[in-house]
Amino acid sequence: MGFQLANIDGRSALVDGDHYFDIATISEGALPSDPMLALARSAELTTLAKTLAGSTPTGALADVVLGPPVPHPQKSFAIGLNYLDHAAEGSMEVPANPLVFTKFPSCLTGPFADVEMRSDYCDYEGELVVVIGRRGKDIPAENAWDHVIGVMVGQDISDRKAQFAAKPPHFDLGKSFDTFGPIGPALVSLDGIGDPRELRIVTSVNGETRQDDTVANMVFDVPTVIAYLSQITTLVSGDIIFTGTPSGIGAVHGKFLADGDVITTTIAGVGTLVNRCVRVSDHTSPGDNIDAGS
Ligand code: ZN
Repeated sequence: MGFQLANIDGRSALVDGDHYFDIATISEGALPSDPMLALARSAELTTLAKTLAGSTPTGALADVVLGPPVPHPQKSFAIGLNYLDHAAEGSMEVPANPLVFTKFPSCLTGPFADVEMRSDYCDYEGELVVVIGRRGKDIPAENAWDHVIGVMVGQDISDRKAQFAAKPPHFDLGKSFDTFGPIGPALVSLDGIGDPRELRIVTSVNGETRQDDTVANMVFDVPTVIAYLSQITTLVSGDIIFTGTPSGIGAVHGKFLADGDVITTTIAGVGTLVNRCVRVSDHTSPGDNIDAGS
């Protein structure tokens, strides 16, 4: 049955239906309330989750604001052009190796948080996010899922103006503006979902479906990515990987996000993110003056 781990006011909580249970409280202090420490205790969380039916909930989800289930990962990776249709729609070559970039952990935000946009060229990318549970180096692909504690829904919000402000493009900056990484709503343990290789991701904007695909269509699947990354850097508990987005992004169709737009991202069996877009001040680049001819 697994467990769903949420972040409520910086405290780790198990979710069951419409209610949450503060884990430090219901474990009587045996488990830490720091979400980053709690998620390293997978076996104990599984045991604790089985006791929820007989416990008193701490409160109702409707009364609280959920934070990102993994608020401070040591590393936050993302994979570009990892679905065939998405590479094709942008007339981009399918990479021969995983195209890896960083979404700075500071961009992570809650599942229902506003996205603050600083240009008229911001875009959505619905993605499956995997969370490392057990640290590892040189992890063989066949053992990779053993190192994953669970998954979340993620939005890899992108400012295309910033992303393509340099050549070659710098993905990191264009995708790491504050608030550009909604994740959640909870971290769902692997044994709480169906086959993680078959999950369906659907993203809509103001109710209009823009992306609809399954993770089975990834170019580089999760085990391949974990094996590859772990040869380079030790993966530790809490590291996260945005695994790429299917076709249907706004940039291809000239449908960039506007002030007030609402992005809804659903992975069946994992959860739904709802994020309102708020247009704030403009960002500038040193090269803007050159473009303007001044
Ligand atoms: Zn992406």
